[in-house]
Amino acid sequence: MRGRKACRNCKYIVETKVNECPVCGSRDFASRWVGFIIVMDESTKLKDLLPLEKEGIYAIKIM
Ligand SMILES: [Zn+2]
Repeated sequence: MRGRKACRNCKYIVETKVNECPVCGSRDFASRWVGFIIVMDESTKLKDLLPLEKEGIYAIKIM
């Protein structure tokens, strides 16, 4: 997962070259983050715990 950054707003992880978060539209990214959750099913119960709006990879904690 090196070379990727996480959206500070929704924690969605994108490649460094991406300028705008595809989930929330934020342009505020953090290059330092810890852990990640891979969401493969939008209907997952994880939505009750985290604001996951879209399938993909999310950081657990933004540094
Ligand atoms: Zn976002």
